[in-house]
Order: sequence, then C-alpha cells, then structure tokens
Amino acid sequence: MHVRGRCASRDAAEITVPTGDQSPTDAVINRPLDLVDSHAHLDFAQFDADRDEMLTRARKVGVKTILAIGIGEGPHQLRAALPFAEKYDWIYASIGIHPDAAHQASPAHFDEMRELARHPKVIAWGEIGLDYHYDEPPREVQQRVFRRQVELAREAELPIIIHCRDAWDDCLPILEEMWKPTGIGGILHCFTGTEQHARRGLDMGFLVSFAGNLTYPKSGALRQVAAKLPLDQMLIETDSPFLSPQGRRGKRNEPAFVLEVAHALASVRNLAVDEAATATSANFRRLFGMSASMSPEDSS
Ligand SMILES: [Zn+2]
Repeated sequence: MHVRGRCASRDAAEITVPTGDQSPTDAVINRPLDLVDSHAHLDFAQFDADRDEMLTRARKVGVKTILAIGIGEGPHQLRAALPFAEKYDWIYASIGIHPDAAHQASPAHFDEMRELARHPKVIAWGEIGLDYHYDEPPREVQQRVFRRQVELAREAELPIIIHCRDAWDDCLPILEEMWKPTGIGGILHCFTGTEQHARRGLDMGFLVSFAGNLTYPKSGALRQVAAKLPLDQMLIETDSPFLSPQGRRGKRNEPAFVLEVAHALASVRNLAVDEAATATSANFRRLFGMSASMSPEDSS
C-alpha cells in the first residue's frame, strides 16, 4: 500500500545537518564500522532486480545485522521476511500486521502468527500500531488489531516494533496499559514524535529508532530530540525501500544507507560516526539478547 512504512517528517528547522562527508566506500577504507539496520522491508518488489547486490553493498559499508520486517503486502504474506532470515545468518525476521492493513486481519492470520512466532529467527513482532495520517482503516479497527497483536506478542514474549503516526495520544496509553507491565520492551520505529513521547516510550523499555528523515532540512525538532535522549536507548534504521536520506530523496532507499543515518546521529551528538554506529548496534543486541558474534563478519 502506498503509505506503508513511511513516516512524516517534522517541520521545525533550527539545526541543519549534512549527511556526512564520507561516502560509504570512504568509511570502509578509514575504519570498519559496526552498523545495524533495525528496520528494512527486504521483500518489497523495489529490490527484485538487485536484491543480492543490495545486500552485498550493505555488508561492504559495515552492516552486521538487518531486522527484516515481515508485514509483506498485507496479512496474506505473514512469512514475508522469513526467506531472508533463513538464507542469511546475519538477517533476522519479524512478523506482524501493519495498521494500514488492519481491516484485512482475520482470526486465521492471528493463528498463523502465533505459529510463526516460534520460528527461531523470528525475534520481534511488528510493525504494529496506529496510523491516523489517513482516515482508513477506521481507528477502532486499527486499535482492535493492534491490541490483539500486543496480546499475542506478550504470549510469545517477543519485543514489539511500533509504527505510530499522528496517533501518540492513543498509542502510548495502550502500550502503558498492555505492554509496560511485561517488561519486554521493543522499538519505536521511525520515530517522529516529541521528546515527551519518546520519554514515555523509554519508561516502558522501548528503544527509539531514527530513520533517514533525521537528515532532512526540516527535521530540526526531530534532531533536537535525538540530541537529548540517552544514547544507550537509541537505534538507527533505513525503513528501506522508503525514506531515503536527504541526498537520495525520491530514490529507492536500501540498508547500506543506514550509514547516512549514523552520520546524522553522530553529528547531533558530537560523536564520530563509528561511535554512533557501535552504540546503536550494542543497543540492538542488548534488546534482543544477542552477542556481537551473532552478527557474523563474513557470511554473505
Ligand atoms: Zn516499516
């Protein structure tokens, strides 16, 4: 669907951030990076022509792990991310029904996800949540399907990946009621909210994940949020094939460009890019109980 996976960028523009003065190739020559792309849609048709090369490019810039999001084109494709997780030891999968597809969810889909959640490479449930940017599916349908999946994730003891757009006032209370007591945590994916929204998430054990919109000229307010949150509670992601960083807007995004998000985060935090990369990768592994050796160096 047209809007899936994308998130709104914010408007204020106090700080502008260059996307980094290194090309991906330069970065590899200078020092090895440890990057995790915490959110990519590897199954989408935009990658059909060059998927293997795209993954090779990601490895070359230092992407050690990708979390492949398994929402597919809707709940008829709940296994969308599994082929990648089964083929590559450095790629993991999620399962879930995106709020844009909530009206398609049936009890059979919930049963199927309950089964898939036992797969050893399925490490997260999502992206799930609420998206009020458009008027459909109806809010009550989105909320019902969101709550059902939160229950199932709790049963499966899997961290949840939250997609929330223009819906914080409904999304956060549901999570505070249903998810906070579990202590399992998760990811606020493609974060676009305020510092206060972020801190309510952090209080529940969520990590806040920043995407390519952190590089946009109009994202000053978002950069200010990224400058203030604790570094040990942040992630970076591409949301590929959507949300290309500033220099590539209008073109397809891909996991290698998570390096540009790392540059943007490093810039607002006054860090070197490898420090931003290492910190966010360590946060990812801590959330999912992985050691660095679970993100193998050479296994493309
Ligand atoms: Zn997404």
